[in-house]
Amino acid sequence: MTDGLTPVEAHLADILATIAPLPVTRLELSQVEGLILAADITAVQPLPPFDNSAMDGYAVHAEDVAGASKEHPVTLPVVGEIAAGDTGAYALPAHSSIRIMTGAMLPNGADAVIPVEWTDAGLSRVTISASASAGHAVRVAGDDAKAGELLVTRGTRLKPMHIAAIAGAGHGSVSVYPRPRVVVLATGDELAEPGTPLVPGRIWDANSFMIAAAAREAGCLAYRQAGIPDEPRAVLETIEDQLVRADLLVTTGGVSMGGEHDVVKAALQRLGTMTFRKVAMQPGMPQGFGVVGQDRVPIITLPGNPVSAYVSFQVFVRPALGALQDYPGLGLPLVKASLTAPLRSPAGRRSYLRGVLSGDEVTPLTGQGSHHIATLSRANALITVPEWIVQQGPGDTAEVLVLP
Ligand code: AMP
Ligand code: MG
Repeated sequence: MTDGLTPVEAHLADILATIAPLPVTRLELSQVEGLILAADITAVQPLPPFDNSAMDGYAVHAEDVAGASKEHPVTLPVVGEIAAGDTGAYALPAHSSIRIMTGAMLPNGADAVIPVEWTDAGLSRVTISASASAGHAVRVAGDDAKAGELLVTRGTRLKPMHIAAIAGAGHGSVSVYPRPRVVVLATGDELAEPGTPLVPGRIWDANSFMIAAAAREAGCLAYRQAGIPDEPRAVLETIEDQLVRADLLVTTGGVSMGGEHDVVKAALQRLGTMTFRKVAMQPGMPQGFGVVGQDRVPIITLPGNPVSAYVSFQVFVRPALGALQDYPGLGLPLVKASLTAPLRSPAGRRSYLRGVLSGDEVTPLTGQGSHHIATLSRANALITVPEWIVQQGPGDTAEVLVLP
């Protein structure tokens, strides 16, 4: 602790300690993009499963075309045609050829494919003007993966290429952690729904849309429940209502030091399952977390200022969403970059300044207030300034979180 503030790492560790992975489920391949694989995937059969042609051309015995050249072409009879998907068992007689398409099973006895471009494309006889050695344009069974070979490891976050390997190996469904369901709750008497008129004293709700979008960006399902008045009963009732569809609840607003106006804190503190504290960071100092309801659904309470809520989501909620899937890799990538301009940071707190990362240089944006959403929308990075540094100059190296 520094001045009664909890360090960022300690706060994150405490949040993660309250979160258990969701029960593993089996899902159809079309549902699993971005999910975490819960069991290794192996090749049941060799990949490819049979010897096949890599090109459109003619299956031959390589020795029959050994001397072929432009000057001395070789002509062979064409005794058949095999298209991709043809399941017939064909054999190539001596001194002849079979027209063959890309992906078609190689006929028995053939050991090379002459690309159609090296021939006159003949139908009953073909004239071949180049030689090929055995194995030319042939994809051998198992040259990509042997039967039993490990294809995708448990714990992988499934991207299109993994899904290709799984589908290509014939698995129709896989064991995964379910997509976490995040319910986003925005509190505040001042909030109006975007698209409706404003009266002085009110503002449009930005947080609930932003946090729901950030949760989806992190691979989750998100439901938005906004416009919750600053009244403990309303907060508790809404939470109660939403529990059935939540693997994680995220609230914004109502957790600072303003006493009864801090409605989330006021309502949840009584449950005795919550921790509210000040974290040594800027923006985002007031934070809370805990569990609610019979099923002890985890809840993270973010501050109301939109930039604070955004930064807190990236720093605390993303890793928590990973933990629901037993996946440690959901935090943002950290890179080093050279500052192009000076910056300041309060002593004893870690700053997350909005910046623009370009190559190996990063520029802090003007407008670092925690209500500056317009500035936030121009950022692609968060410049992190350690607790013990109060200023940095151009050319200094900064650690930068790359925003998704
Ligand atoms: P609070 O944490 O509730 O005291 O809110 C801190 C600041 O953030 C206040 O200026 C609020 O008006 C603002 N704020 C709270 N919730 C939202 C929201 N959903 N969208 C935009 N601004 C908000
Ligand atoms: Mg509020």
